[in-house]
Amino acid sequence: IQWEKQVRTSAQIHRSGGMSVLVTGAAGFVGSHVSLALKKRGDGVVGLDNFNNYYDPSLKRARKNLLESHDVFIVEGDINDFKIVSKLFDTVAFTHVMHLAAQAGVRYALENPMSYVHSNIAGLVNLLEVCKAANPQPSIVWASSSSVYGLNEKSPFSELDRTDQPASLYAATKKAGEEITHTYNHIYGLSITGLRFFTVYGPWGRPDMAYFSFTRNILQGKPITIYRGKNKVDLARDFTYIDDVVKGCLGALDSSGKSTGSGGKKRGAAPYRIYNLGNTQPVTVPTLVGILEKHLKVKAKKNMIEMPGNGDVPFTHANISLARKDFGYKPTTDLQTGLKKFVRWYLSYYGYNNGKPVN
Ligand code: NAD
Repeated sequence: IQWEKQVRTSAQIHRSGGMSVLVTGAAGFVGSHVSLALKKRGDGVVGLDNFNNYYDPSLKRARKNLLESHDVFIVEGDINDFKIVSKLFDTVAFTHVMHLAAQAGVRYALENPMSYVHSNIAGLVNLLEVCKAANPQPSIVWASSSSVYGLNEKSPFSELDRTDQPASLYAATKKAGEEITHTYNHIYGLSITGLRFFTVYGPWGRPDMAYFSFTRNILQGKPITIYRGKNKVDLARDFTYIDDVVKGCLGALDSSGKSTGSGGKKRGAAPYRIYNLGNTQPVTVPTLVGILEKHLKVKAKKNMIEMPGNGDVPFTHANISLARKDFGYKPTTDLQTGLKKFVRWYLSYYGYNNGKPVN
């Protein structure tokens, strides 16, 4: 391992009272944005990512290049690798861990269930084992998911609502993550904050998500498949713009370890907290498509089909009052504006000019 010097440099703090943060999943969508935001305000940041091929790894490499141009270094490794994760903590006394590495996506679990167990359960436990032994122990903020609400029909979703009806293996592993982190908080006094993200979208986003793949297909003149619920009810999502989620992550990091706040119960010495990070403005999928058509200036070819029951839930809708109260979380970007920014990024990243590909 020859990365120690780069890791130390990347972890240097450039503001008083700053933190040194290990960001897992730093080459991912949310992780790359959070890493950049932390670095820009003067915190020390080191990334860890295994660059897996769940989606186009060249996009992860491009995010890595962007981060490196801002002096954020990403170690290539797996959160399941005890040696690498321990070595990182031997090299830097991280004050915080922003844990975003995971196997995301709902449908991929139908063919690749063990990938969820590997990253979202075994990898999480491995990371917690290292954190538990670290001196000082870092405060951990990690990504759970709105999917834990599953088939809950109460709207909007509040943190204390039932989460015992997961609709996918992905949701079940996130729910398991909440139980596992709670246990480590209880037994080992680790400070834990879980953030339930609601359909995050924006520039540098994930190609497996609907808004992204719809954009690709619309531009290529290919049909898109829109799922509907029973009785032709449209699916709706509480789409949340990446910059709002980043602000929520930084707010959660800044307030972590200090007090339990209202988002949590106090068990032993350290806080355990869970917060929704959503937008509180659910939008139906056909409305999303309409906005994309407008920004792309192309009509979509739509196939409407009934949801095949493979893990999707009919709707999501966040109540965000706890995050607002405890760390001032206040999303400001509506879907129109956020998708405009996404489309602008997409066209430039994939080399389009006036809606036409540039050779
Ligand atoms: P992403 O797939 O873009 O990022 C995850 C990153 O983690 C990837 O770069 C991947 O290579 C890395 N990774 C995966 N398994 C790993 C492992 N075992 N070891 C090291 N690195 C590994 O996904 P994202 O959208 O940025 O999501 C970030 C987190 O937020 C995830 O935990 C995800 O489950 C959660 N989340 C995301 C959304 C969303 O809408 N984007 C919604 C709810 C929850």
